[in-house]
Amino acid sequence: MTKLSPLAVVPFVSVDSMMKLVLSLGVERFLTDLALYIEEDFKRWEVFDKTPRVAAHSHEGVIELMPTSDGHLYGFKYVNGHPKNARTGRQTVTAFGVLSEVGSGYPILLSEMTILTALRTAATSAVAAKYLAPRGARTMAVIGNGAQSEFQALAFKTLLGIDRLRLFDIDPVASEKCARNLKGKGFDITICRSAEEAVDGAEIITTVTADKQNATILTDNMVGAGIHINAVGGDCPGKTELHSDILLRSEIFVEFPPQTRIEGEIQQLAPDHPVRELWKVIAGQEPGRRTAHDITLFDSVGFATEDFSALRYVHDQLRTTGLYEELDLLADPDEPRDLYGMLLRAAG
Ligand code: NAD
Repeated sequence: MTKLSPLAVVPFVSVDSMMKLVLSLGVERFLTDLALYIEEDFKRWEVFDKTPRVAAHSHEGVIELMPTSDGHLYGFKYVNGHPKNARTGRQTVTAFGVLSEVGSGYPILLSEMTILTALRTAATSAVAAKYLAPRGARTMAVIGNGAQSEFQALAFKTLLGIDRLRLFDIDPVASEKCARNLKGKGFDITICRSAEEAVDGAEIITTVTADKQNATILTDNMVGAGIHINAVGGDCPGKTELHSDILLRSEIFVEFPPQTRIEGEIQQLAPDHPVRELWKVIAGQEPGRRTAHDITLFDSVGFATEDFSALRYVHDQLRTTGLYEELDLLADPDEPRDLYGMLLRAAG
């Protein structure tokens, strides 16, 4: 048991500490626990301050700030999305985040969130699929086999029992990497030569590609009745993955409609096209999948409450694991109003 430090010293979870935390708990347990936190926060959706994220777009990508608060805690994430980064040895998506006490405004956690985003995105996708995917589904196509893909596969195995994967990526090296990383995790894995081949026999289709354009990863003829689509990669204006005809045949579930209308697959539809809110399904106010023939679509863009849940979960692990460093982030003069005096004493 580790004692957390005084308020002025902020616990910092580095990439190294995050990896140790995930490995010490086990990826599967981390995903299971995190999914519970995410569900818990979706169930109390109405208490959160909600706003579409603040996005700074450029030709190459986007930098976004994602704030929310439940009245007691405040969290935000800084995240980028730069599909061309991989060519220069960088991640497409990197992130870090802060959790603070609303009462004092003092941060209580600063954390890496690149790994945490992959975990929370996968956990959220699997939570959505629990309510939306066809019962007893075992086979998932994963189109786009980059940084997010293994996390998606493991969340669907842990939370839904998916144990057959059909992988496709325009870069076969990515599919081989994904298959290699998932070896020994209990999957039957097929690497496919096309998206058409990958969706053949799949009950769930995850699209998690990165390309800054209106791409057509799935065409209408590739999606049969009863399929659940977990569309993760389309998350920015002008960056989508599905042909609009699929959207017209699907029952569409979203996180926060005002944000998804800007960023999700539904940016291709009329602004009043009906969509359903995932939180209402999780809170038991509305049914999820209604019939075995429905095409359900989770139009995932990633919402601030999911990052808030993830930061809350990581913060709750600090005491028992001690996996953090103490960051001298906040000035703390003995007399609060003597900030300049503190500077003078340091010079002396
Ligand atoms: P990545 O760059 O590591 O991997 C993307 C992969 O997609 C690459 O291997 C690339 O070769 C492949 N790809 C590109 N175009 C393709 C196509 N037409 N067909 C098949 N494969 C194709 O990126 P990542 O970190 O895995 O992220 C993937 C996507 O997910 C990004 O677009 C990112 O913005 C998005 N994302 C969404 C959320 C969310 O909450 N919805 C969270 C994180 C990331």
